[in-house]
Amino acid sequence: MKILIADDEALSRRLLERTLDRAGYEVVAVENGKQALEQLSKPEGPRLALLDWVMPELDGPGVCRAVRTRSEQTYVYMVLLTSKGSKEETVLGLESGADDYLTKPFNAEELRARLRVGERILLLEDRLVEARENMRFRATHDQLTSLLNRGAIMDLLARELHRSHREQKSTAILLGDVDHFKLVNDTLGHVVGDEVLIEIANRLLAAVRSYDFVGRYGGEEFLVVLNNCDPAFAPGRAEEIRKSISNLVIQTAKGPLTLTMSLGLLLSSEWGKKPIEELLHEVDIALYEAKAAGRDCLRISKPSTAVELPPATLPQSVRLRH
Ligand code: GH3
Ligand code: MG
Ligand code: MG
Repeated sequence: MKILIADDEALSRRLLERTLDRAGYEVVAVENGKQALEQLSKPEGPRLALLDWVMPELDGPGVCRAVRTRSEQTYVYMVLLTSKGSKEETVLGLESGADDYLTKPFNAEELRARLRVGERILLLEDRLVEARENMRFRATHDQLTSLLNRGAIMDLLARELHRSHREQKSTAILLGDVDHFKLVNDTLGHVVGDEVLIEIANRLLAAVRSYDFVGRYGGEEFLVVLNNCDPAFAPGRAEEIRKSISNLVIQTAKGPLTLTMSLGLLLSSEWGKKPIEELLHEVDIALYEAKAAGRDCLRISKPSTAVELPPATLPQSVRLRH
């Protein structure tokens, strides 16, 4: 583990360096408070610090105060080294944001033991951050497919619609529904149904750019948001996405399977500033029209009358290959 030593006295610094090096730490040594702050501000900088109280440029308590005012970075465990032993000064040191203090001359055993306390605190922080990140992921992602869940993709879509309106660009909203998916469950079982949904999610992700969004809107319904998508290219991109599902065989535990998807598409630039619910309702109507037209095809939602794309490929139901 990396540790920072900040001490202006060369002899004292070397002594600390040797002790900590022997204890297995990766030591970064500096000679004043300003340099200490620079090291502690680096993204991969040390998270354990031993700071001399009296130093040029910025003293130990000054470094502690500066570190504690930043909220965005990970926690740094700081120990002040002081030859001052009075109660007032101890209070002052801890109030400045230090976690602990040691009086000089230090005892090597005690120093190591106090640093182990620091390591335990940092480990605890890592676990808390990990737990928070896991919770954040679970709150915004679908458990089965790991795609964005309905709430999260709606939030992102609302933000994108706002942005594209402001910048006079267009967001393409695609709503896809797997054709005759119930048949998969009924003939092959729910577990295979789940497998298929995961595969479809992966294909949708692979078919879009890294800055587009794919979410699970409902059971076998997926919402794809193509950010800043030129209206002239959106239908072509939507067709590619449809084909990424229809053209490929899905390998399942019960054998290979081909499936299709029907899609509704809406280009936000053609609709002006409308509430997200209204736009989703419109794209849902377009999806319904694609289903009515025989499935495995795309229909575009237009403010006046729906414009149809060239005839879709033959309607397909679930085909099993044995
Ligand atoms: P259509 O072509 O009209 O869309 O027909 P469909 O069979 O796909 O549509 P329907 O809405 O009748 O059936 C959807 C099915 O999706 C029913 C439901 O049990 C299934 N489903 C929804 N969520 C899940 C899931 O998480 N796992 C599995 N295995 N099935 C699911
Ligand atoms: Mg369906
Ligand atoms: Mg459905």
